[in-house]
Amino acid sequence: MFKLLKDCDVYAPHHLGRQDILVCGERIVHMAATIDAPHGIGSLEICDCAGLLVVPGLLDQHVHLIGGGGEGGPATRTPEVQLSEITTAGVTTVVGCLGTDGTTRHVATLLAKARALELEGLTTYIYTGAYQVPTPTITGNVRDDIIFIDKIIGVGEIAISDHRSAAPSPADVLKLAAMARVGGMLAKKPGLCHLHVGSGKQGLNPLFAMLEMSEIPIHHFIPTHCDRTPELVNDAIRFAKMGGRVDLTAGSRTAETCIYMLEMGTPLENITFSSDGNGSLPRFNRDGVLVGLAVASLQTTLGAVRKLVLVHGWPLEDALRPVTTNVAHTLELVGRKGTVAIGADADLVVLDRDLQVCSVFARGQKMVWEGQVLVKGTFEQ
Ligand code: ZN
Repeated sequence: MFKLLKDCDVYAPHHLGRQDILVCGERIVHMAATIDAPHGIGSLEICDCAGLLVVPGLLDQHVHLIGGGGEGGPATRTPEVQLSEITTAGVTTVVGCLGTDGTTRHVATLLAKARALELEGLTTYIYTGAYQVPTPTITGNVRDDIIFIDKIIGVGEIAISDHRSAAPSPADVLKLAAMARVGGMLAKKPGLCHLHVGSGKQGLNPLFAMLEMSEIPIHHFIPTHCDRTPELVNDAIRFAKMGGRVDLTAGSRTAETCIYMLEMGTPLENITFSSDGNGSLPRFNRDGVLVGLAVASLQTTLGAVRKLVLVHGWPLEDALRPVTTNVAHTLELVGRKGTVAIGADADLVVLDRDLQVCSVFARGQKMVWEGQVLVKGTFEQ
């Protein structure tokens, strides 16, 4: 029932310094410079974290939980993600999505997978829909999906400016965003419209057009993959300066893109990183012919944080924000997720001084300890 993490150097993500953390069930119930092991409270496990950093469990708002891809035919469909692929990346909260293939993959399957991962220890949400417009749903429309189905917090990933999109007009996508907005209001959920942005020449123009022609608040629109091209990065900076939140798909250049965006006046609060994990990474030549394919890893978000700190000298407390507090704002989970605080969920990642994952707690459960996966998915070897 109780766990006491001793001698943690806590980044909440702001730096709190040395703290002991008392966990009861799924929550953090006390934090202080020293907590003596309480007596007479039943089972208590002491977890020694001396010399190690403790940070919030990461939130990843774009993961292909049941796989993605298929752009090279059925043999290129990526498989379902396994629990430990998520936990060993330091991720404890995920939002699942469909992608290019909204025909042979279904929102209901994604919902079942999200429920399975929740039972296995994580915190999970999903978007209804896929790339295409009209977009697939469970109940028949986006608004009802958000209202009736616990895990559905918005619509996505709807593709714009991409050769794999349904070439929707801004008005087409706006109708989906409007349903997400109202569904979110009625269900007390974020009601997000999560936009896959391709490398097409229109960039974020469809999004700017939507904002021009509607009253839907900008925070409902989350464009992702915004670091694909220099032109798109500049569009993303403009969008962020208007108050929008921009999501970068973490990869080898994310740290540098983030630094450039800040230099150009983008508030750090408006930048998030996600992994696109478990989706396919297709490479197309100039003629749109598929020339290669890989599966995206969930490790990239923490990798970007690591690079910001170890290569570019950022304070860890700043580098953590795009994967913790900033995402918690988007998902309306502030105070519960993306923070190490009394009353918050006990989603904790223990890092060594090289910012490598040592141990992971998800809702108080010890998922990974000193590099060993303790909790495996039902069908994991
Ligand atoms: Zn995408």
